[in-house]
Amino acid sequence: MTKALRVAIFGAGPAGIYAGNILAHSYENVTIDLFDSLPAPYGLIRYGVAPDHPRIKGIVNSLHEMLDAGNIRFFGNVEFGRDLTLDDVKRHYHAVIFATGAIKDAKLNIPGVELEGSYGAADFVSWYDGHPDYPRTWPLEAEQVAVLGNGNVALDVARVLAKQADDMLTTDIPANVYEGLKTSPVTDVHVFGRRGPADIKFTPIELRELGEVKDVEIVLYPEDFPEGWFNEDAQGVTNQHRVMARVMQSWLEREAEPAKRRLHLHFWHQPKEIVGENGHVTGMVFDRKGEERKYPLQAIYRAIGYWGSALPEVPYDETKGVIRNVGGRVVDESGKSLNGVFATGWIKRGPVGLIGHTKSDAMETIENLVADVSNFEDPAEPELEQVLAGLRAKGVQFTDWAGWLKLNEHELALGDGFTGPVERERVKVVDRDEQVSIARASGI
Ligand code: NAP
Repeated sequence: MTKALRVAIFGAGPAGIYAGNILAHSYENVTIDLFDSLPAPYGLIRYGVAPDHPRIKGIVNSLHEMLDAGNIRFFGNVEFGRDLTLDDVKRHYHAVIFATGAIKDAKLNIPGVELEGSYGAADFVSWYDGHPDYPRTWPLEAEQVAVLGNGNVALDVARVLAKQADDMLTTDIPANVYEGLKTSPVTDVHVFGRRGPADIKFTPIELRELGEVKDVEIVLYPEDFPEGWFNEDAQGVTNQHRVMARVMQSWLEREAEPAKRRLHLHFWHQPKEIVGENGHVTGMVFDRKGEERKYPLQAIYRAIGYWGSALPEVPYDETKGVIRNVGGRVVDESGKSLNGVFATGWIKRGPVGLIGHTKSDAMETIENLVADVSNFEDPAEPELEQVLAGLRAKGVQFTDWAGWLKLNEHELALGDGFTGPVERERVKVVDRDEQVSIARASGI
């Protein structure tokens, strides 16, 4: 008989759920409690994936099955460091895995970045995905907008800004987001990459999708595509690059159709300065191959990468925005590992890679966790009731799996009850207290 093991996981996004599921299948005598600071599970899928990406949002179905299988217990609205400290965790569990992801924006250090109208893309994503901790309104007053960066987040932000609000109504966007998008007077969305069209970090499906957005014209600039701009045989060129090069080549050659909004892709534009008047963005200056270029803009979205946040008492590498770790084993500054403390997902390896990559990442962390089992100290208070009693004593209004099922049904019913021009499957509840009160309706 293997030793009975109790493991806590913080972060109920894909990283935490995959880690829990892999652990449940690799160690037979384990109890897993999965905590999230938000009342609902699914992290990045619920609050990071664009609402008009149903294929990716659909990953929720397999995550739901993993949580519904009964070998992982979910508790929401529990914040690590406040509601449960590292000491609490050690008192109740043999080991802990941090899977808290990366939800902040990487910093861009150029003059003017603090001006009103200069936004982090991650904040905008949190707004349109109805994250409860972000303001309900978003200033959408600009006609000319820039999106900095050539990754998929830049594409998400540019697409959501350029799309007609009515075309977002089939998604799960909350009512306030639809109302906000509907007021947007935007005519031109400019996406700026600091390198060339062969160096993009987009993926083919997402790039191609841009060209299919209704009533949006894609504008490319011939100066960025000189003869031989794409070298098939260059080092590091993948099939994905080849597909994307063909997509852009076809846009260059196609007859432009007049559209209400334009989406421009500019390359070789290194951000230099954001300029403004009366504290508000009025434009931006770039360096294009040694030449200064200035564009009039009223809003700028910085989509240059996410950044992981430090957790209380957990070693953190501020140069990378990740928890210090070796293969998922959390280590202190001297490289010594903290017994029973692990990390997985974006907070382990940084905010790169698709959701599927998180699975192989979790496998590595769990393999190391299982290898360390004999070193773990036995917790003094190993019963779940002792954990929950501690939370109750602090007045924490935690939610659980049954509560999520209620909230889920409630959101689906809101979608069902929607009367309007389209059918809606779900309408998200945004407010934290409202989510908690629906989830705890019949008590916990
Ligand atoms: P990313 O793919 O790393 O792209 C970041 C972009 O920002 C790069 O083009 C980078 O340029 C640029 N950048 C970085 N620092 C800059 C600076 N100082 N000035 C100007 N540009 C700068 O990151 P992401 O877009 O945040 O995406 C994160 C991960 O999530 C990626 O793996 C992405 O594919 C994934 N994701 C997927 C989807 C989907 O729909 N499938 C949606 C969203 C996100 P350089 O290349 O020159 O460094």
